[in-house]
Amino acid sequence: MLDDRLKQIFVELTSIDAVSGSEAPVADYIERFVKNLGLNCYRDDADKLSKGNTGNVIVPVMGGGEFFLAAHMDTPRSTKNLKHRFLSDRITSDGTTPLGVDDRGGLSAILFALEKAVENKTLLPCTLLFTVCEETSMAGSVTYMPAPGMKYGFTFDSFMSPACFVSETCGLIDFEFVIRGKASHAGISPEKGINAIMISAEAMTHFPFGRLGDKETANIGIIKGGVGTNVVCDEVFMHGEVRSGTIEKGEAMIHKIIEDFKQVCEKYGGRMETKYFWDFVPYKIHDEDLPFRHFLKAASSVGLVATPMKSMGGSDANSLNVKGIKTINLGVGAQNPHGNDEFILYEDFINAAKIAYQLLTTHLE
Ligand SMILES: [Zn+2]
Repeated sequence: MLDDRLKQIFVELTSIDAVSGSEAPVADYIERFVKNLGLNCYRDDADKLSKGNTGNVIVPVMGGGEFFLAAHMDTPRSTKNLKHRFLSDRITSDGTTPLGVDDRGGLSAILFALEKAVENKTLLPCTLLFTVCEETSMAGSVTYMPAPGMKYGFTFDSFMSPACFVSETCGLIDFEFVIRGKASHAGISPEKGINAIMISAEAMTHFPFGRLGDKETANIGIIKGGVGTNVVCDEVFMHGEVRSGTIEKGEAMIHKIIEDFKQVCEKYGGRMETKYFWDFVPYKIHDEDLPFRHFLKAASSVGLVATPMKSMGGSDANSLNVKGIKTINLGVGAQNPHGNDEFILYEDFINAAKIAYQLLTTHLE
């Protein structure tokens, strides 16, 4: 059965409504929690980048150590009026709101383990990092400045079962295209116009929609254009993404797409503006890397087999790896994330908390 204290922390945390950019009440809760345990914490200035109402909360334990445990404080959707349901094997909401288990599940597991480790006097030097805006811009993990001694870390933020962890992810390019033609009356002088919708339609026949490889996908998810049926459309806006397992592959894919689109534009006398950036870049952690080895040890000490997995999604772990801090994203068992049917199995929740405790209290060597 679920430990009463773990349940209490989870209920308190999920009863706070704090979407991305409005994490302050969660930060306040964490601050009170760690101060009650006799630990110090501070907030950084991640709010400058996130434009939200708080920065990250950082808890350096005994000098900060060489690894961190992290979870994010925001939810992508409001959990206002959440009504918990404690079923025989799981916690859910009543189906009218999300449960907020992504990532309050991970957050609760860490705080619960921290409290136990302080009570048992087994806590080792480490850092706890609670980030803002993971669900939107990752402004929290992008801003976080690891102390010089920081070597590796763990984020508690995957829907997978505890023991599974993301050792490898794709990266994601976000792109925006504007196809420009020329407006004209569609009935009186269509030949004077250049139809941006027609150009876009032809260009999109060259777009590699869908799954292209092991870690490669491409999608145009938003398209807008046109002002009236009697006007030759002069502007179409497209917003999409390309995911890939390596930066080289991703760059090659986006350049090919832009080239193909430009050729169609030129054929009809249209123009094109393009803009793209890496929303997150790929990472790959090997079995000799520190977080891999530390996690293996923690999982086996609670009777679980650490299982590396590939993921097509990004998390704070991606931006932390960019800083040279090898980080893996751990399964918490927060299932159906972001839907009104979010849930967590008691068994997974307990295991996530046990793993957090092991990481906080056992040395790697
Ligand atoms: Zn999350």
